Amino acid sequence: MQCLHHLPRAGSVSAGKKVVCSGSPQPDTTGSDAKGGHKLGARAFLLATAVSVTLVLALTSCSAGSRGGAATDTPHERYARALLDSGLQATVLGRDWLTAADSVLRVPLEITLPYREAGAFSRGEARAVGYRLAVPAGQVVTAVVKVTGRPMQVFVDLFESAADSVNAFRYLASAREDSTGGPGTTGSAAIPRTYIYTAVHEVREQATLVLRLQPELLRDGRYQVEVTTAPILAFPVDGGSNRSVQSFFGVDRDGGRRVHHGIDVFAARGTPVVASVSGVVGSIAPNELGGKVVWLFDAARGLWLYYAHLDRHAVTKGQVVGIGDTLGFVGNTGNARTTPPHLHFGIYRRGGGAIDPWPWVRRAEIQAPTVVADTARLGSNGRASGSGVVVMRAARAGADTLRRLPRDTPVQIMGASGEWYRVELADGVAGYVRARAVASASRASVHGRHGASQR
Ligand SMILES: [Zn+2]
Repeated sequence: MQCLHHLPRAGSVSAGKKVVCSGSPQPDTTGSDAKGGHKLGARAFLLATAVSVTLVLALTSCSAGSRGGAATDTPHERYARALLDSGLQATVLGRDWLTAADSVLRVPLEITLPYREAGAFSRGEARAVGYRLAVPAGQVVTAVVKVTGRPMQVFVDLFESAADSVNAFRYLASAREDSTGGPGTTGSAAIPRTYIYTAVHEVREQATLVLRLQPELLRDGRYQVEVTTAPILAFPVDGGSNRSVQSFFGVDRDGGRRVHHGIDVFAARGTPVVASVSGVVGSIAPNELGGKVVWLFDAARGLWLYYAHLDRHAVTKGQVVGIGDTLGFVGNTGNARTTPPHLHFGIYRRGGGAIDPWPWVRRAEIQAPTVVADTARLGSNGRASGSGVVVMRAARAGADTLRRLPRDTPVQIMGASGEWYRVELADGVAGYVRARAVASASRASVHGRHGASQR
């Protein structure tokens, strides 16, 4: 037995804080809004009683080394702790919930952004889903989970996959709930409504993130998850777009004698150049290459933004500006004298070198694929329609193959993204298969795990 909510949290590791395993609110384990819930609640109680000795040991081992931190626990951590306190941790369902929370981080699926998936969670099963996503420095990741119908709290957490094998995941952020009223607190209420959970994280160093979704126990419902990115910085030229950027970071300059340490944003002479952040103008001293320039300091992120080749200034040294304020006007001063007017825009880390500004201002141009796979089949069982049906790590052609399924291999349909289903196999392996390769199962239950047969 171990504390499964042991993942280190950003900022708490160095402070030596550990998760506290007691004194938390109880989860709604009665399942009072459904018949199945009562049954499970009773079973849970009996099981919990039977293994109370084990539970005491688990709580003791958890509490040892606990110190502070309760106020900063995530909703998922609080729920996990409440499971321990209530004894549900000692039931198959409770243990599965804690194990799933851990295991989906270690073997996540892969998604490319923007991503959209429709999914279903069902009572009687303790599931979670983890998605791995690579994000360049300069982008804000937003994960929005919408739950419709019955109240169902979904824990949405973002982690960074770290190179450190001991602390392989660094906690980043949890979703806040946007809808009014607390989910899962209305008991028998069956009023259709939408619960929205939004997790946001600013990626300042290139990172591989893992997004985890996990519903509370004893609830079922449909949800839709959308994961998108947006640039952290406001675009530096008024009215500009991605297409205004015509020269990129790292390309040769002066016949290879130096490298381009920024991006060039082309616009008509006199177009306003604007502050991409709130900050302070550190310098407007001209230089040979840049001509008339503005150095803007972003204290919140420790970044210097460099605006060059200005036609003229609109700010002075020391001036405090807000996002969108005009700093100056597009021109071709400095070594741009022989080129059309453009803004050279650079980003330098405080105490570090130049970084590629492009992801910091590039706007997402594509929409997440529409879900075309039949969502009526979510939560149901299916089977491989032919031989050699491929289960892949991502919902795209060319992704890693996880498994090749013999004909009629049972699968459980967990989610739908584009023309793909996210499925789970009887042994717990999860991946994506093309929806057209999944035939309906004639048997009521093909899933060997507990709970599936209750439906
Ligand atoms: Zn340039």
